[in-house]
Amino acid sequence: MNIRETTLSARIDGKAFAADVRTHVADHVAELNSEHGITPGLAVVLVGEDPASEVYVRNKARQTRETGMTGFEHKLSAETSQADLLALLARLNADPAVHGILVQLPLPRHIDTEAVLAAIDPAKDVDGFHISNVGLLGTGQKALVPCTPLGCLMMLRDRLGSLKGLNAVVVGRSNIVGRPMAQLLLRDDCTVTVAHRHSRDLAEICRGADILVVAVGRPGMIKGDWIKPGATVIDVGINRIEAEGGKTRLVGDVDFDAAARVAGAITPVPGGVGPMTIACLLSNTLTACCRAHGLPEPDGLTA
Ligand code: NDP
Repeated sequence: MNIRETTLSARIDGKAFAADVRTHVADHVAELNSEHGITPGLAVVLVGEDPASEVYVRNKARQTRETGMTGFEHKLSAETSQADLLALLARLNADPAVHGILVQLPLPRHIDTEAVLAAIDPAKDVDGFHISNVGLLGTGQKALVPCTPLGCLMMLRDRLGSLKGLNAVVVGRSNIVGRPMAQLLLRDDCTVTVAHRHSRDLAEICRGADILVVAVGRPGMIKGDWIKPGATVIDVGINRIEAEGGKTRLVGDVDFDAAARVAGAITPVPGGVGPMTIACLLSNTLTACCRAHGLPEPDGLTA
C-alpha cells in the first residue's frame, strides 16, 4: 500500500495515518463495487445506553458510511436477554450482506461476554476476539486480527520497513492488545518479550527494546531513561488525568516529553494509536468481505 510517510519528526501521526488507511479502504471498496457489484457490510451491535459506547458506535457508523460500506446498526435495550442477542447474531451470521460483526463491549452484567463472542461467525469476527481467530493468529495462520494491535503493526511497518530480527518488548498481556501484539511481532520475525505486573526490572527490559509497545493503563509509567536511543515507541495507553483549572486531559502510558527526546519515533496520546483502531475495523471488514467472496485482499491492510 502506498501510505504517505507520516514521520516527519519523531512524532508518528496516527490521525493522518488512519486517514490514509480509510482512503485506501474506500478506494478498494469502490473497486469491489464497480468490478464485482459487492458492497462490504459492517453490523455493529450495542446493548444498553453507555454514553462512551454510544459515541464509539456513532463514530464507527459514520466512518463505515464514509468509506462506501454499508453500516447496520442494532441498538438494543439494556434489558435485552442473552437469548435475544444470540438470536440476532445468528441472523447476522446468516446474512450475506453482512461481512463484519462487532458487538460493542462492555456488555450488561447479565450477559455472558464469552458466550456472545463465541457465537459470532469467525469469518465475520472483525474484532478478532473469537477463539478461532486467536488460535489461528497464535499458530501463525491467516486470521482476523484485533484492531488495535493491527494498527500498531501497520505504523511499525510503515516506520521501520522490515521488523526482522528487532528486539520488541510489549508491556501488558491483555487479550485485546498485549497478547495479539506479541503474536504479530513474532510473526514479523521480531525477538519478543512480553512484560506484565510481575516482570522484574521492567526498566531494564524496556531498555533492550528496538520496538517498545506499551498497553498498561498507567499514566506516564514508562520513563525517558527506560527508552533505548533511537527506539520506536508505540503508546497504546489512554488515561484521563486531572489538568489545570479543574479540567481533565488524556495521556498515555509513556512520559511523552522525556521519551520523545530519546526515541527515534513515538506515537502521541491522543492522536497516535487511538484513531488507527476504527480505521483497522474498517480494513478488517474489507478483508473479511474479500475472503468471503474469494477475491484478493488489499495490500498492506492485513497482518
Ligand atoms: P488491561 O487492564 O486488560 O491490561 C493491562 C496490562 O498491563 C495487564 O497485562 C497488566 O499485567 C499490565 N500491568 C498493569 N500494571 C503493570 C505494571 N505496574 N507493570 C507492568 N505491567 C503492568 O488493559 P488493556 O490492554 O485493555 O488496555 C491497556 C491500555 O490501553 C488502557 O489504557 C486502555 O485504555 C488502552 N487501550 C487503548 C486502545 C486504543 O484504541 N488506543 C484500545 C484498547 C486499550 P497483569 O496481566 O500481570 O495484570
